[in-house]
Amino acid sequence: MATAETIDRAALEELESSFRGELVAPDHPGYEEHRRVWNGSIDRRPALIARCVDAADVIAAVRLGRRTGLPVAVRSGGHSFPGLSTADDALLIDLGRMKGIRIDPERRTARMEAGVLLGDADHATQAFGLAVPAGIVTTTGLAGLTLGGGIGWLMRKHGLTIDNLLSVDLITAEGELVSASADENAELFWGVRGAGGNFGIVTDFEFRLVPVGPTVMAGPVFWEVQSAPEVLRFYRDWIADCPDELMTIVVLRRAPDLPVVPRELVGRQVVGVAACYCGAVEDGERVLQPLKRFGSPVLDLCFPKPFVAHQSMFDPGFQRGWWYYVRSCDVASLEDGVVDVCAEYGAQIESPITSLALWQMGGKVARVPRGETPFAGRDAGFTFNINGNSMTGDGFDAEREWARGFWDALAPYHTSVYVNFLGEEGEERVRQAYGSEVWDRLKAAKRRYDPDNFFHINQNIRP
Ligand SMILES: Cc1cc2nc3c(=O)[nH]c(=O)nc-3n(C[C@H](O)[C@H](O)[C@H](O)COP(=O)(O)OP(=O)(O)OC[C@H]3O[C@@H](n4cnc5c(N)ncnc54)[C@H](O)[C@@H]3O)c2cc1C
Repeated sequence: MATAETIDRAALEELESSFRGELVAPDHPGYEEHRRVWNGSIDRRPALIARCVDAADVIAAVRLGRRTGLPVAVRSGGHSFPGLSTADDALLIDLGRMKGIRIDPERRTARMEAGVLLGDADHATQAFGLAVPAGIVTTTGLAGLTLGGGIGWLMRKHGLTIDNLLSVDLITAEGELVSASADENAELFWGVRGAGGNFGIVTDFEFRLVPVGPTVMAGPVFWEVQSAPEVLRFYRDWIADCPDELMTIVVLRRAPDLPVVPRELVGRQVVGVAACYCGAVEDGERVLQPLKRFGSPVLDLCFPKPFVAHQSMFDPGFQRGWWYYVRSCDVASLEDGVVDVCAEYGAQIESPITSLALWQMGGKVARVPRGETPFAGRDAGFTFNINGNSMTGDGFDAEREWARGFWDALAPYHTSVYVNFLGEEGEERVRQAYGSEVWDRLKAAKRRYDPDNFFHINQNIRP
C-alpha cells in the first residue's frame, strides 16, 4: 500500500522542484479540507494531493504517478456522486484552482479551465447575454459534467454540453499535452464527449456559447403530493408537443425551509414541475400558463427572473458535506405505471433533503445522431435522478433503501442510464450507459490512448 511516507523520495523531490501549485500530504494543515469532496458520505484519504495551477503542474503530477505507480485520481469540481474524484492511498490530481475563463463575445466562444464551476461559467458568460448549456446546480464542476455529457435547462433548445464543445487540451497517460477537436485527434475528441476521464486529464475546454436571457420565464410550481397522479398525467400531455425552448424537471420532495416557502408548507410532501423557457419571456408566459393554472398549486415561483437566479434555485438543497446516495435510469415515457411508482415513492419521502428530479429529455438532444458522441441517452424520454439524502450519517441507510426501492420499482421501464448519475455500480452498468456498439468503440479508443488503464478511478472502460 502506498502512503505519503512510502512515496519514492527522489520522485517527490523532482515534482517539488517544478510544481507551482501546492502539494498537500496528510501532515499538511490543509489536508482535512482538501481531501473532502462534496458528498459527505465519501471519506477517503489520498496519499498526496497535487493542487495544480496550470497544465505544466498536471504534466508533472502525471509523471509522478507514472514513476511511483501510485493510483491516480482526478478532481475538478468534486461533485461525483460516488466519490470517483478521490481514493484512498492515491495521488489526487486536483484541478480546482485552475479557474481561467476567456470569453470571445464576437465569435461566441469561450475557453474555460478545468476548475471552473457552473456558477463561474454563468457569471462570465451572462455578462454578454450568452451561456454554455450546462447543469442546474452552480457548485458542480463544469469539467466532470462536460466529460459525461452535460444535461440542463438549455439542452432541449441548444443540445448537451458536449454538443457545444469545440475542442479540449488534454494531458495523456504519458504526460503529453494534446489538443483534440473535430479536426485534430478526432477519435480522442469523440471519446471525451461522454466517456469521462478515461482518456486523459482535460485541462482546458473550448465551448460554443448560445444566447440566453438574461431574463427568462422560469421556476417551479408545486402541488400537494396527493395530487401527484393527476399532476403527472396532466404534465405528460402538456409537454407532449411543447417547443424546444421549454425544459422541465418534475420534483418530488418535502417543501424546503427557505424564505420563499410559506411557513405552513415547509416540510410537507409536494410534487413540483420546475420549468425554464429560454426564448422570449412573453412566449414563455404564454407557454407556461396551462401549468400555472392546473389544479390548485400550493406555491407558484414561476415568473420572469434572471437566468443566473434560476440557475442557483436548487443550490440550497445540495450543500457540500451532506450525505448523498443516487440511483438513476432513463425511461421512454411517463406511462401510467411510471406515474404510479412516482406517486407512491413521493408520498414516502421522510428526509427534508431527499428528492426525485425527473428530467424531460428530447428536443435538440434527440436530433443529434446516436453515435456522434458516446452519450447514449439521446432517445430517452425522461431521466430519473433519485436522491436518498441525509444531512449526516444519521438516517442515511433508510434514505438509501428508499432510493433503491424506488429504482427497483421502475425496473420494468428502465432503458439507458446517464453515466454522470451512476453510482459505483460495476462495469456492466457502465456498459449499459453507453450501449454495446459505442462500448466496443470506446474500448478500442481506450486501448489506443490509455492501454495501461492509468486513468481508472472513474466510470471505467477497461482497455
Ligand atoms: C449537486 C449535483 C448536481 C448535478 N447536476 C447535474 C446537472 O445538472 N447536469 C448534469 O449533466 N450533471 C449533473 N450532475 C452530475 C455531474 O455532472 C457529475 O457529478 C460530474 O462528474 C461533476 O463534475 P465535477 O468536475 O464536479 O466532478 P469530479 O468529482 O471532480 O469528477 C468526476 C469524474 O470526472 C473525472 N474528471 C473530473 N475532472 C476531470 C478532468 N479535468 N479531466 C479528466 N477527468 C476528470 C474524475 O476523475 C471523476 O471520475 C450533478 C451532480 C451533483 C452532485
